[in-house]
Amino acid sequence: MPNDPYVWIDRALDAIHRANWYRSPQAISAPGAVVEIQGQRLLNFASNDYLGLAGDRRLVEAAVAATRTYGTGTTGSRLITGHRPLHRELERAIADLKQTEDALVFSSGYLANLGTIAALVGKRDLILGDRYNHSSLKNGAILSGATAIDYPHADLEALRELLSQHRDEYRRCLMVTDSIFSMDGDLAPLPALLDLADEFSCMLLVDEAHATGVLGATGAGAIEACGCRECPSIQMGTLSKALGSLGGYVAGRRQAIDFLRNRAPTWIYTTGLSPADTAAAIAAIAIVRDEPERRARLWQNVASLKQGLERVGIEGALPSDSPIVCIQMRDAATVLEAGRLLKKAGILVAAVRPPTVPTSRLRLTVMASHTPEQCAVLVDSLKALKERGLG
Ligand code: PMP
Repeated sequence: MPNDPYVWIDRALDAIHRANWYRSPQAISAPGAVVEIQGQRLLNFASNDYLGLAGDRRLVEAAVAATRTYGTGTTGSRLITGHRPLHRELERAIADLKQTEDALVFSSGYLANLGTIAALVGKRDLILGDRYNHSSLKNGAILSGATAIDYPHADLEALRELLSQHRDEYRRCLMVTDSIFSMDGDLAPLPALLDLADEFSCMLLVDEAHATGVLGATGAGAIEACGCRECPSIQMGTLSKALGSLGGYVAGRRQAIDFLRNRAPTWIYTTGLSPADTAAAIAAIAIVRDEPERRARLWQNVASLKQGLERVGIEGALPSDSPIVCIQMRDAATVLEAGRLLKKAGILVAAVRPPTVPTSRLRLTVMASHTPEQCAVLVDSLKALKERGLG
């Protein structure tokens, strides 16, 4: 066709292939420490199911019971026909875990970030975000229409400089940060960020997606672990990682949550979270509260993996404060080859590369449901990669 307006897509896709950036999903069996892909059994070090709850019988039963009672879909937005008693039950459970006045459940963490940022700031406002923040925070900033400036990763000096230079030019300022950075696994300097927010009269939105259920004495997240629960902030997170379900949440002061109910477009104009997902998340939060031994097992596994990497002399490991452990590699082709060899050896990891991250890396995630033997198998396989010049 002459002047085919879609032909640029073919060329763009070719460029993605040539750069080794092409990605496509693979169908995986039910969640667990061992999964199956096309008949091959693989040790799973690529999942966000940190507490091993996504396949837990109690979550499954809660989801089934809720589906029997309330049906599969919620049929409308929460403000019209999509609100069920389960939603408030979950929101109260989240607020209780987080020790905040209230919480609001969204259909995903991504939507929670988009809607919250778009509601909190607008054209006359400033957003300052860590360069390594999750895509949903960055796109939330774009959606809001505010002026958004990224500061270098965890660089408090640079952030202070930006605040000194620009804070007064804007009406409101929102600082945004992952607490655990999703593609590096390190922890943001939350106490210092809260101090700066206080000093420059800024709001702080903390993304606890990878920390909820994982960090803190009660599993409330990094804010709890850093002893910052009393400091004003707005927290968000996902129900889809340690909580083994699907959906997102925002937690904070009652008025802030009430405001979001009236202003967050990704909450108002989308269908309410399914009864199954809602009930599974309620069951998960009860387990987080009642079974701290799961968290203890998770951290034992994290420690044994990190010690193992050190023992066999893996050098590219990035600093990590979480179950996310990344090993940097030369380039996209090398990390893809490493991922392929590990898969051949029966281990599933994520080979993450640009444009998702600035530098190519293997991203390993540890779960409470791994055994020490499984962690040892991973370390041995990484050692073998290193011996082939890939580590
Ligand atoms: N924030 C961070 C830091 C994340 O890693 C993710 C998920 N990858 C999200 C937000 C989005 O959460 P969800 O998967 O529930 O949309």
